[in-house]
Order: sequence, then structure tokens, then C-alpha cells
Amino acid sequence: MTSVFTLNADLHSHSVVSDGTLTPEELAERAHANGVHLWALTDHDELDGQERARAAASALGLDYLAGVEISVTWMGQTIHIVGLGIDAAHAGILEGLRHTREGRGNRAKLMAEQLLKVGISGAYEGALHFAGNHDLISRTHFARFLVEQGVCPDTEHVFKNYLVEDKPGFVPHLWATLDDAVSWIKAAGGVAVIAHPGRYKLNAMQMDELYKHFKDIGGLAIEVITGSHSPNQYQTYGKIAQQYGFLASRGSDFHDPNESHTDLGRLPHLPDHLTPVWSAFH
Ligand code: AMP
Ligand code: MN
Ligand code: MN
Ligand code: MN
Repeated sequence: MTSVFTLNADLHSHSVVSDGTLTPEELAERAHANGVHLWALTDHDELDGQERARAAASALGLDYLAGVEISVTWMGQTIHIVGLGIDAAHAGILEGLRHTREGRGNRAKLMAEQLLKVGISGAYEGALHFAGNHDLISRTHFARFLVEQGVCPDTEHVFKNYLVEDKPGFVPHLWATLDDAVSWIKAAGGVAVIAHPGRYKLNAMQMDELYKHFKDIGGLAIEVITGSHSPNQYQTYGKIAQQYGFLASRGSDFHDPNESHTDLGRLPHLPDHLTPVWSAFH
């Protein structure tokens, strides 16, 4: 029998709407084929795929939560806040996300200028070709262009050598505030989740402040089992969830069959001493 812990929930994934390469329908089919019971599409800063994802999931008998992954600037670093179970037609979150997306086109042009200085031309047009939309152009699309150009063997190499702080294609950017992101999610009836906490370049004191502030403003959960964490980090963030009283989330962060290390639904179950985030939804 499927208990609340062994439910195959995958609550973090990306489609062509943001920086994934599969359509919402293709993702629903892949999730279903991989044995997922409860799925959320969480495109970056955009809800445009939500209706299609829900319809495709419903046709397959797959339970669905509307989701989003919001880009946030906190203490000068980019962090990601996932919203789950939101009303994807809520005016407040739609407006907030629209504003959050606005800076992407200009940032991409600045990134291309930087890359030109190290001899890589046509990066804006190249990345735009992969993105399809200047409001959603992301570093991932630049990474795919640089791989296509033969600059690097894979996107992992591009990030490491070009697209992170202190590398030639990195342009700092101011995203949404943490307070705004959490308030949009809450106003839309959703649960706010700190995505992949193991990925941030914040020290222990700053992380403590992040957890406390996030909790103060109504954040309820953190990702424990994610494609971005190592097995050691499953332990670390499981303890953090207990210590701060957060619900625990699980999601692959799947983007593409070749690029992503973790496929939809193919990750360990949540440790059974934690309270799953899906216990907040009935
Ligand atoms: P952006 O929102 O434009 O800053 O792009 C962030 C996206 O880049 C993330 O959502 C990931 O999909 C991708 N990304 C970030 N770091 C890496 C990395 N080291 N390797 C591969 N993809 C990455
Ligand atoms: Mn991404
Ligand atoms: Mn993320
Ligand atoms: Mn993600």
C-alpha cells in the first residue's frame, strides 16, 4: 500500500515554458510512465503551462498541484522559492511574476555583451532561439547555445566556466524580494517552499536567518529530497526541516532527458520522520 511517505510525489519540474525542453504534456506522460502519483510543474517565474499540465495530468489519472519557482534576491544572492497548490489564475501572483520576468531580456543582452568580450558572438540571438521568448530567457538557454557552438561539451561546463559569479558571462540581477514572493504564493492559496537549500552560497548564520525570516512571513516547507542534493544533504536538510518545523518537499528539478541527472519521480522517498508537504493538501 502507498503510505503518505512512499507516495511518489515529484513537486519540482520545468517545461518549455521556462528552461525545460519537454512540453507540459510530454512531462505529464513521462511522470506517469515513471510511476509518479502526484506531480507539479514549477516553471521559473511563469504560470503559462499550468492549464496544459493540469489537463494532461488529469487525462492520465495523475494528481496535480499547480506550481511555480520564483527567482528571489536575498542578501545579495539568488535563491528560489517554489509555490505549490496555487490558484494559477490569481491576479496578484500573475502581476508579481510578470514584473519579475521583465528584467530577463535586458540581463540577457548584457550577458551577450560580456560573452562577446571573450570572443563568443551572437549569444543573445542564439539563446533567444532556445528560449523562444525574451521574457523567459535564462542562463540555461545561453548554456545550450554555447554547447551547440562547441564552446563547451555540456551545459554543466558552461555554467562552471561562463555563467556563475566571477566568470565572463555572469551578470548580477535583482529578482523579487523574499517577502513579495511568499506573499504572492500565500495570496494565491499556495504553500511556499525553499527550493534546493543546499545550493546557496550563504553561510550558516545567513541560512539560519533565511529559515527564521521565511517562517515568520508564512513559509511552510523546504525541499529535502531534490535532484540538486547529495545523499548527505538529504540528511542535513531533513534535520533542518525538523529543527525549524518545516514540512518536507521532494522534487527532481527535471529539465531535460539528457541534461538532468535525476529523472521525474526517480529519487529516494522522504525519510518517514518528516511531514511531507503534500499533507497540507487534501
Ligand atoms: P537563471 O534564472 O537565468 O539565472 O537560470 C537559472 C537556471 O540555470 C536554473 O534554474 C538551472 O536550470 C540552471 N542552472 C543553474 N546552475 C546550473 C549548473 N551549475 N548546471 C546546470 N544548470 C544550472
Ligand atoms: Mn532551471
Ligand atoms: Mn532552482
Ligand atoms: Mn528548478
